[in-house]
Parts: sequence; structure tokens; C-alpha cells
Amino acid sequence: MVVVLEKGVTPREKEAVRAFLTDRGFQVREVAGEEETILGAVGSGQVDHREVEMQPGVARVVPITKPYKLASREFKKADSVFSVGPVKIGGNRLVVIAGPCAVESREQILECADIVASSGGVMLRGGAFKPRTSPYSFQGLGEEGLRYLKEAGERYGMPVITEIVASHQVEVMRDYVDVFQIGARNMQNFELLKVLGAEGRPVMLKRGLSATIEEWLMAAEYLLAHGAEDIILCERGIRTFETYTRNSLDISSIPVVKKLSHLPVLVDPSHATGLRDQVIPVGLAGIAAGADGLIVEVHPDPPRAASDGPQTLYPEQFEKLLRDIEVLSPVVEREVARLPRKSVKPAAEQGTEPGRKTLDQGPRTVAFQGSKGAFSEAALLRYFGDAPQGVEPRSFPHFRDVFEAVLSGEVHFGIVPLENSLMGSIHQNYDLLLQYPDVTIVGETQIRIEHSLIGTPDASIETIKKVISQGPGIEQCRDFLDAHPHWTVTPFFDTAGSVAYLQECGDPSLAAIANARTADVYGMKVLRQGIESNPRNYTRFAILVREDQAEGVADANMATVVFSTPDKPGALYQCMKVLAERQLNLKKLESRPLLGQPWRYMFYADVELSGDQEQFDLAMKELDSETHDLRLLGTFREARGYARS
Ligand code: PEP
Ligand code: MN
Repeated sequence: MVVVLEKGVTPREKEAVRAFLTDRGFQVREVAGEEETILGAVGSGQVDHREVEMQPGVARVVPITKPYKLASREFKKADSVFSVGPVKIGGNRLVVIAGPCAVESREQILECADIVASSGGVMLRGGAFKPRTSPYSFQGLGEEGLRYLKEAGERYGMPVITEIVASHQVEVMRDYVDVFQIGARNMQNFELLKVLGAEGRPVMLKRGLSATIEEWLMAAEYLLAHGAEDIILCERGIRTFETYTRNSLDISSIPVVKKLSHLPVLVDPSHATGLRDQVIPVGLAGIAAGADGLIVEVHPDPPRAASDGPQTLYPEQFEKLLRDIEVLSPVVEREVARLPRKSVKPAAEQGTEPGRKTLDQGPRTVAFQGSKGAFSEAALLRYFGDAPQGVEPRSFPHFRDVFEAVLSGEVHFGIVPLENSLMGSIHQNYDLLLQYPDVTIVGETQIRIEHSLIGTPDASIETIKKVISQGPGIEQCRDFLDAHPHWTVTPFFDTAGSVAYLQECGDPSLAAIANARTADVYGMKVLRQGIESNPRNYTRFAILVREDQAEGVADANMATVVFSTPDKPGALYQCMKVLAERQLNLKKLESRPLLGQPWRYMFYADVELSGDQEQFDLAMKELDSETHDLRLLGTFREARGYARS
């Protein structure tokens, strides 16, 4: 049962409730949510719920109806998110774990780790104890393999995951492993589950070859009931009558499990299909279905892999998979997890100049333009969602205020939109970047812009007579609005602000067009989701920081520069020549009027960094002599996606 405690419950009352339940044979777990604290009581204890409800400090008791208790959404409503070293699993990040089927040698696993880390994987896999169908097949390197795996993970800053096949191996594995994997063949090895549960380390539990979803969740329950907290479920395909593929990926299990359980779910498209050509499409399908990430097999030379070669990706395929996931991520409203970048120290750790405010320790504050619920806020929550200290969005009325707040040290970061895939650049922000030379770009993110028609809780499509939203929101929903010619459509100064206004009016004949999230923020109702004419609508945002607090982005692959040219033939050509000769790929070039100098122009250029910093530094030097006022607006890791690749 779930025992919801009163908001003002005292520690003493809480302990008394816990003792009351323990005395009656329950195991008690506390779940502290944002809104309320709950105690989960499971086990064979017997008690009348009304008796529990009478205990001081108890608000209500909710029975858990499912046979799996601790694993169920009834026990915990919010998604479970936990950290394995620098990697957050669950929540708004998509994680990609990769590596060979088995550790074959020190050189092989080091090479694999290099492939995984350089393409954007965040955790390294590799079996040391292999459960093989044939006793004559390669059985793994055992402890030697664990040692190499750990060394490779450490070298590239990646946690490691490997399979345990027998309880006694816990002893030897403990020192080497970050996440224990329970293979499909061992999903119902209850003795192993009990031992690993008691170990208290993160566990990835693969679905058994012929296990039902309920059996799978019951296996997770074993781990949780014996003490484990951080469990990842992994759908890796089940046995069906189909023989073309190794297994059949049960894609529908993903939304089902995500509904039934709070635990993160990964997909293993390698073991699901057994064929490398199927791994990318099936993996992407898993992400589209709501998985929290993938675990895949990759090897520098798959045909020579000691096991599972036919399903193992070539390095180029793995790299493509990562790029494709990045493209897909805005659609599922996730950000692809990366190993931590050394980009920015929290402002609180830095010295500040006299006259500038010092930020206290605490959540990272991020300034955005617009009302609460704005697309910019959604973008920053995606980008900073897993900041260890948490994130605190701060709303400002104008873009300039965002720059001011960053410059004055009132916030750690700012976020501004730079470009929309349908409407082009947001010039005002490019101009502001020029006007605020002490503010620099350190990151980029992009989100899909999906519009919804939002009404008051008692409204329906039929009650609507008037619609308000910001101009671009209205324009982007033209087809939908044209289908309702009797509605009066009026521009409003701010998209999310139009929902705030709707809340204020409480008028069921009024509707606003905004991000569906905004309806939740203001307690309004989504009347129709996805009303934009073109669903391939993305906005790219820049993450801003004050220059003296930016550290240099370790994995930057893009730079934005701005310059003006002398007024003579071939001036721009000379600049392009510099980039061409240094093998630097120009991704975007745009001209903007020079403020205060009619009919003179600046150029904004996005340049791809080749990985050879020296080439870029030399190009900047050469450009400096060809241009006026050359400035580097920032270097950052590109958010790859539709808009740019
Ligand atoms: C593995 O991940 O190497 C493995 C053996 O997977 P499964 O248990 O899903 O077959
Ligand atoms: Mn394998």
C-alpha cells in the first residue's frame, strides 16, 4: 500500500508510522516527491487500511493493486531517474550504451571504448562471463576481461556494464562493475536476483526470452524487494514463430511498461534482431516508442568478433545511429545524454568582478524570454534538465533582459532562440549578441515546435469564438484556423502569455495557441494538440553565459563568428577562401545590417570545427586581417537535427 503523509508531518510522526507498519510485518520505503511524502509498505503484513489512516500524520492510504509493488507506478508516480557516475538514466535524457558483445582483449576493448565515446555513447558494455548456447563457444575472459573493461571505461570517463551469470561472481565483479546486467536467460533466476538486489548497485534487467511483461516486472520486484533501487529494464526481443530475425522486438512493451512502472526502459536492438542492418531502424523505433535509450553492440571489426558478429555494428554505423537519434530526439522531447562537458563552471565557483553580483550556490538559474511555459522554457528544461543542482528558469519580458541578466550575474545562464526551421533567423538575438560582447554562446539545443489549441477547463472546440496567440504561432497554424472561419483570430504579444491571459479571463469562448505544456502550467485544457500546418517545425536555441565564466567547451564542434568586410570587390570571397583553405566547413552564412550604419552589413557565419583547433585558430588570425571587427560569438557542441544536418 502507499501511505501518503500529511504535508506538515513531523519527523517523529513519520517514524511512528514507519514503526507501526514494520511491527505489522511490512517493509517500508520512503519516496519523497515534490508535493508529498509517501511511505510504500510492501510484504506479507496484514493491516486494515482504516487503522493506518488513523495514525497521526497520515493523509490517506492507497492500495497497490498490481502484484509488483515497488516497481509499479501506483507506488511511485514520477519516472525514476538515477545517476551512474556522470550518467543520468531516465528522465529527459536518452542514453546510448555500447560496446562489443564480449571483451576479447585489452586492445579490443580500448578501441571499442574510443569508438563509443567519440560517437557520443555514454556507457561501455562488454561481457566477461558469456552465457553461450554452445559450451564450445567463447565463454569470455572472466576477471581478466573485467579488468580491461574497467580500464577502458576509466580512460574514456564512461561507467561500465557487464553481465553476471552466477551469484558467486558478485565477489569478483564488485570492484570492476558500475551496472550489473542480468541477461535474458537469467531473468527468472530468483536466487541471483536476491543476491544482486542485496548488493544495492544499479542493475539492468533484460526481459526473458519468453517472459510476459508481468513476469518481467515481478523479476524487477525481486531486485527492489531485496534492496536494489536503481533498476533499468531492457527490452531485447522475445521468442516468436518468426525465424528471420533472432528474436522479435516487442515494441509495444515499451509504452506498456512505461505506463505500468516508473523504472527506465532501454531497448537492445542488437539482440532483438540479430542482424546489423536491422539494428538502426529497430533502435530508432524503440526511441520513438518512448524508450529511455539503447544498448547496442559495436566492434572495430565485426566479422572478426568472438561472439554476435552478425548483429554487431561497424563504427560508422554506430556513428550514424547516434546522429539519427539526435535527429529524432526533439520529436520525443528528449535530449541525447552526453558525457559531461567541461564547458562551464557554475558561476558560484568563480571569482566575480567588483560591481557584479555573486551568485549563491544552489540550482542553476537560467533566464528566458516570455511567460512561464514558453517554448524557451521548454528548451532550457531539456538542455539543463539533468543539472545535478537542479535548474531554476527565470522569466523575463524581453530578449534584451536575458542578456542583461546574464551580464549582471543575476543568472548563471541565458537561453535565446536563434533560428526557426520554417521562419529563419531571429535577427534581434543576433544583433544582441553583437551588442553584448561579454556574453558568449556555450551551447545549443533545439526543440520541436508543436502548437496546441488551449481553452479553459470547461471549454470545447464548439464553445470557441476567439483565438489569440503571438503572430508566428497564428501563421504556423493557418490551415487549422482556416478550417474554422467563424473564429476571430487576434495577435497577442506572447505565446505562453496568451494562455496566462486565458486563465485570467476564464472565458470558455476564448482559446490560445501555445505549447501543450503551457496548459498544465496554467491549469488550462488542451482542446486539440498538434495543430501546426507543418509538423517539421524546429527552433534552435543558444545557451549564453558571461564570457568570464565560460570555460571552453571540451567537445565543441561548431563556432559562430561575426565580421564585416572592406567595401571592395572580392572581400567576402577572400574570407571564404580562408575557410576553404583551412578545410573548415561553413554551415551557415547570413548578412545583417550594421547597426547605426545604413547600407553596410555584417556577416554571421557558423563554422564546423574539424577537431583540429590549430586550423581554426589560424583561420581566425587570417580572417582578422581580411575583415573588420571580427568576433567569435562562441564555440559549442552542435545540436544535430533536421535544421542543420
Ligand atoms: C548480451 O547482452 O550480451 C546478452 C547475452 O544479451 P541477452 O541476455 O539479451 O541475450
Ligand atoms: Mn551479445
